[in-house]
Amino acid sequence: MSKTQNKLASYIDACRPIVYINHFDFNAVDTLIAQVVGDREVFEYNDAFGSVDFKWKYRQDYNIKKDLDCFLAYHYQNDDEAKDIEETFLILKDIHFHLDRPKTIALLKSIALKTLNAEQESFETVIIIVASKLVIPTELEHLITVFDFPSLQENEIEGIIKEFAEEQEFEIEDNVVKELAISCKGLSEFEIIQILYLAFQNSGFIDIDDKQIIIQEKEQIIKKTGALEIINFEESIDDIGGLEKLKEWLKRKAQIFKNLDKATEYGVDIPKGIMLLGMPGCGKSLVAKVTARLFEVPLLRLDIGKLLGRYVGESEENFRKAINVAEAVCPCILWVDEIEKAFAGIGESSGGGEVTTRLFGNFLTWLQEKENTVFVVATANDISKFPPEFLRKGRFDELFQVNLPTEAEQEKIFEIHLKKRGKLHQDINLKELVAKTSHSRFSYQYSGADIEAVVKETIENAFIEGKERITTKDIINVINKTIPLSESLSEQIKELEELLSKYNIKSAT
Ligand code: ADP
Repeated sequence: MSKTQNKLASYIDACRPIVYINHFDFNAVDTLIAQVVGDREVFEYNDAFGSVDFKWKYRQDYNIKKDLDCFLAYHYQNDDEAKDIEETFLILKDIHFHLDRPKTIALLKSIALKTLNAEQESFETVIIIVASKLVIPTELEHLITVFDFPSLQENEIEGIIKEFAEEQEFEIEDNVVKELAISCKGLSEFEIIQILYLAFQNSGFIDIDDKQIIIQEKEQIIKKTGALEIINFEESIDDIGGLEKLKEWLKRKAQIFKNLDKATEYGVDIPKGIMLLGMPGCGKSLVAKVTARLFEVPLLRLDIGKLLGRYVGESEENFRKAINVAEAVCPCILWVDEIEKAFAGIGESSGGGEVTTRLFGNFLTWLQEKENTVFVVATANDISKFPPEFLRKGRFDELFQVNLPTEAEQEKIFEIHLKKRGKLHQDINLKELVAKTSHSRFSYQYSGADIEAVVKETIENAFIEGKERITTKDIINVINKTIPLSESLSEQIKELEELLSKYNIKSAT
């Protein structure tokens, strides 16, 4: 049995009464179900034709099972004392539109509960819902187990491509098959065949140049998810002032990531991800971009706010889709910006709290189990709502705190931003500037973003005043008028620092 078949079989053996398979490719799901159930009894109901024969799909017993509720009621009553207990399977396809109806919910619940009490009765009916949308009524939450249909393995994709070539009668070399299969990773069989048709229609054969079509199709898929976007950026590692420890760490991981085959063969673990914690404006987003540059892979940004949906299960479904897409694009960096948003209200019993608690659970499981080349860069400004298990090492390869820059770092940041705008010259005294930006109540007062803002404003002023070059004095004038973010956020910063030291999180500096 394959890993996928095993997983579904284990849910059934563990007597999970309702399994929800969230997938649109019904053929693929049918094949899987047929392999797992073997010769046990299967009854199918689908929203288009009603009750049908699972294998041949012809309509059955129109009168007694003409709609979903009749179908369920019929099977609820269908317990035969004389027969040995052996599971019966009810496959319900595309019934998500009916999952807001009290009667349907009650029937599903009754069957599930009767099955859970199977020791007393000769009734063991496993319901498998197959639908392209995940809808979980609150009343059934504890009875439903969501089964994630896994992505195809590389060798399975190779098989699909070869079969396609045979059917269309064209030659394709093994190395081309291999290369295209890697690009197709994360797509479903249906999507892959669509792409192959598209490529084939263009030229009458398929070769390595068609990788471009696959990449374009993947971008289409990313756009459709809504919560993900591809970030284009220019920054490189030299654009970060300071954070030396973090930069060193990333360079090491990049070396592994770029030589993954050799590294894993040698026994090195695939890098999983990193979490960056700290106050805003100190370069966390910058690090996410630079990581993509160092690893030489695309950068996908996940907007947690856009994941959160209004209906039960919607947020999880959006999350799962986004993850599938990231897996489709891998190798890539998945930048989860402001991850704290996902945990707002965690543990609260109100509806919102439950959603985020589940979303959090899903995310942790995914992080723990993932064996792919999606490298996660999670960034957070506020960790007061974080569940402690999230801050423990193990889920991520490393957690770093990104603090307000030290004096040496501030000097470097001034240098970077002045240089970038062609305004760095010998007369500018960086030490004098830093003396201004790092005095006061806090040991280090200005953030990288504050320094950048000061530089920008000085240059703008100089332009308007018609000056040819800027001086140290010009910059200091702007500093004197600036209120750094750390001053307005002083309370939060203190709180954050206390929490970070409590968890003993490494400093990026
Ligand atoms: P965060 O994600 O921590 O809120 P950002 O990375 O968005 O902060 O920083 C905002 C801007 O401030 C950056 O685009 C960059 O121009 C500047 N900046 C912040 N930290 C640094 C740094 N260490 N070196 C250079 N520029 C920095």
